[in-house]
Amino acid sequence: MSDDTAEGVAADDAPVSDAFAALGDETRVAILEAFVEARREDPENRAMTFSELRDRTGVTDSGRFNYHLGKLRGRFVEETDEGYLLTYAGREVVGAILGGTYDTDVELDPEPLGDTCTRCDAELVARFDSGDLDVGCENDHTILRTTVPPGAATDRSMRELVALATRTTYARIELLVGGICHECTGRVEREIVAAPDDADIDYTFRTSCERCGAFTRSSAGVVVLRDQTFIAFCDDHGIDVADRLPWTLPFLTDGETVQTDEGPPRYRVRVEVDDERLDLILDERGVVVATERTPI
Ligand SMILES: [Zn+2]
Ligand SMILES: [Zn+2]
Repeated sequence: MSDDTAEGVAADDAPVSDAFAALGDETRVAILEAFVEARREDPENRAMTFSELRDRTGVTDSGRFNYHLGKLRGRFVEETDEGYLLTYAGREVVGAILGGTYDTDVELDPEPLGDTCTRCDAELVARFDSGDLDVGCENDHTILRTTVPPGAATDRSMRELVALATRTTYARIELLVGGICHECTGRVEREIVAAPDDADIDYTFRTSCERCGAFTRSSAGVVVLRDQTFIAFCDDHGIDVADRLPWTLPFLTDGETVQTDEGPPRYRVRVEVDDERLDLILDERGVVVATERTPI
């Protein structure tokens, strides 16, 4: 019987449950955090000797320290000619610990944002609880619903958190439009479909991950947010898309998406700013296949 089984992890789930069992100990988490502490002090020199690592972790008993290090070695920590290093899995898990992925009790007070709902005249309010961030109004209109690691909320105001969520949302959109899952890097099925009758948009961009099942749904217009032609068009009109919250781009949320008549399904997103119009043509997966700028 292995140690892992003794710790209550089913042996037939070995690979993943072994990984979590290896982390189920304060000393081992402290060892991983010691790597981060060292990296902060000297970002270019990441390797540590056995005794450096032990000193940083604060374990005086060499045999006990060696036992715990052994539980991490191979999966989270590797021994190289220069010394001990975090592996990819080690870096990921430390990032998740520091990002607060495993903290569940971080909550901020709801905060009015001073912006008006895009679907009624009520004020938008941001709410954050345990990683879930919502922006909506008192009439149950949800304008943005996304996730942010709870650790991000410990040293940010609600406004800063909303700005962060906006940036990560844009980054996710870029991955999803490219067919890559933002959760697991698996392949994503994506499609433009007609929105339900009671929705105030005509078309929806939907994605689902073949590997992890992550599902997203948004208005079709959002797929153009990371398109270079769209960004350049906005830039020409003095609008920096990366720093704008999505609901402050009314020409996008109000913009029409229509299905064009001929050939395979194509959808047109029309954006008008000042005296100029940008038409972006999407295929059935939400990929921009053509653009046209015209004076109006
Ligand atoms: Zn509203
Ligand atoms: Zn996935």
